[in-house]
Amino acid sequence: MNNVSLSVLLIISSALIGNFVIYGLARRKIPGVFYFCLLMTAMIFHCVGYAFELLSDTVGTMYIWTRVEYIGASFYPFLIMMFTREYTEEKKFANRFVVTLILMVNVITLILVYTNNYHFLYYSSIGVDDSPGFPILVLEKGIWYYIQVLVLCISILYSITVLIIKLKRSSGSYRDKVLFLLLGVSAPVITMMLYMLGVGPVYLDLTPFSYFIMSISITVGLFRYDMLVLNPITYEMIFQSINEAVLVIDSNGMLLGFNNVSKEFFPSLSKMKIGQSYELIEELKDHNLDSINPVHEICGRKYSFKAIAMKTHRVCIYVANDITESENAKKQLEILATIDSLTGLYNRRYFMEQVEQSRLDGVFIIMDLDHFKVINDTFGHFEGDRVLSDFGILIQHTFPDHISCRYGGEEFAIFLAETSLGEAYKRVESLRQKNNMGTQSCKVTFSAGISEYVLGTETVSEALIQADKKLYEAKERGRDRICF
Ligand code: GH3
Ligand code: MG
Ligand code: MG
Repeated sequence: MNNVSLSVLLIISSALIGNFVIYGLARRKIPGVFYFCLLMTAMIFHCVGYAFELLSDTVGTMYIWTRVEYIGASFYPFLIMMFTREYTEEKKFANRFVVTLILMVNVITLILVYTNNYHFLYYSSIGVDDSPGFPILVLEKGIWYYIQVLVLCISILYSITVLIIKLKRSSGSYRDKVLFLLLGVSAPVITMMLYMLGVGPVYLDLTPFSYFIMSISITVGLFRYDMLVLNPITYEMIFQSINEAVLVIDSNGMLLGFNNVSKEFFPSLSKMKIGQSYELIEELKDHNLDSINPVHEICGRKYSFKAIAMKTHRVCIYVANDITESENAKKQLEILATIDSLTGLYNRRYFMEQVEQSRLDGVFIIMDLDHFKVINDTFGHFEGDRVLSDFGILIQHTFPDHISCRYGGEEFAIFLAETSLGEAYKRVESLRQKNNMGTQSCKVTFSAGISEYVLGTETVSEALIQADKKLYEAKERGRDRICF
């Protein structure tokens, strides 16, 4: 390959990289893309400069083009580190001090390359070699050259390490994206290092050519995996598509971001801008989002808030979920599981649970409507239901502070806590009289059995069996009576 074809290849390579710069500039707000564009621009200077250096035939013009190359090449360490830093958000090692130091070294490199003839600190000697068939520059490395190589190695080592860590933590196509990025960064790096260490064809700097390989790797990454663009866009899509409202608030209470659902939940948000105090959100101003109770009732709806503190970024992410429907359904289910729909009293299972939980002594009363079958047979099942419902209301009115239930078909039970047998009898007797005096069209009497319940001596079921026995006795003795 002669110098002309090598130069053409370099120019094509630059044009391709130029496309990435344009592609990236349109997406420069995405983390890392700004430095990606700068890195690519630096590479264009390097490639174009080298293409013209290869076409030059005097030391003077060759060195002029070397200077052009260094407009970009001097800043590789800084830009590679910044690109990785922004893309991966690793800022512990690549802190302000480190990046400023690297930038300073790079600026000094550029100055030294431009003023090399006065001090020979970067290149100790500059000559020409015609042996490859075309003239090439022969540059002996000076002291500063090695300093520049050192910072470049640090920056590359940092990038490779951070990207490998990121690679290990990622999976699926995201992993492939990081892998292509890693390969892209490593390609020029390997040749650059080979060249700087003096391995490979001495007369040719292979680094600009490796950009061609890098361009292909990035092309695959960009177009097949959307390496740079898809990652943050995917995050944005997820952020916008989730059904919960997400509010990102900094330590000063300033709103850093919110998704579209937030505006539906809290309409005043649509008038607000990022950077304003979150206390301006009308719907939330009376609510402490960090309170222990995560459920807040806002404008008649219930929201559960989850606070995720991100101490490293000094922000808190609040995720709000509209739980109005689910809470209503839960309540409805609770009612269905505990209440008898016909009478409005507790069902038997819940009644027993409640008595057991009360852990109190007391009296059980079981009541059974007399000859209820006759009611059904005479007036019909529908009327029978109405009688049961009325009897339920009567119990509720007479024993409002006691646990009562529909014990079975036409049977009812009441637990009178901390009440004596005599007192219980009096109260059931008054209920019986009230019932018998009723003005309903179809009159029904009831029989009742009463038994004492002493906590610890027997179970609730055993006490109820005793009350049931007494009820049976009342039936045996002619109904419409109470036995204890
Ligand atoms: P006794 O005085 O011996 O208790 O006679 P009874 O007719 O009340 O007793 P029995 O056990 O023979 O009949 C109970 C009736 O209660 C039979 C059943 O159809 C009726 N029943 C049970 N549950 C319901 C209900 O939810 N609605 C209606 N309408 N009737 C019911
Ligand atoms: Mg009955
Ligand atoms: Mg019965």
